[in-house]
Amino acid sequence: MDLEMQKNFIHLRSFEDKPNYPNSKPKFCVTCGTKATQEALFNVGDGVILVEKYCDACAKNVK
Ligand SMILES: [Zn+2]
Repeated sequence: MDLEMQKNFIHLRSFEDKPNYPNSKPKFCVTCGTKATQEALFNVGDGVILVEKYCDACAKNVK
């Protein structure tokens, strides 16, 4: 993956873990590593949407 790609922030939404889903694993904040509660959507071009997970604290700093 090209790390220099343009990321255009779209919006933030609550992230629901699905504990009953067979292959579900806990999701963690990409910034600090605590349990994720939010996910941020980014448009990275060519109709591709990137989703990154964040905790509440870090989600406030996502743009
Ligand atoms: Zn965090």
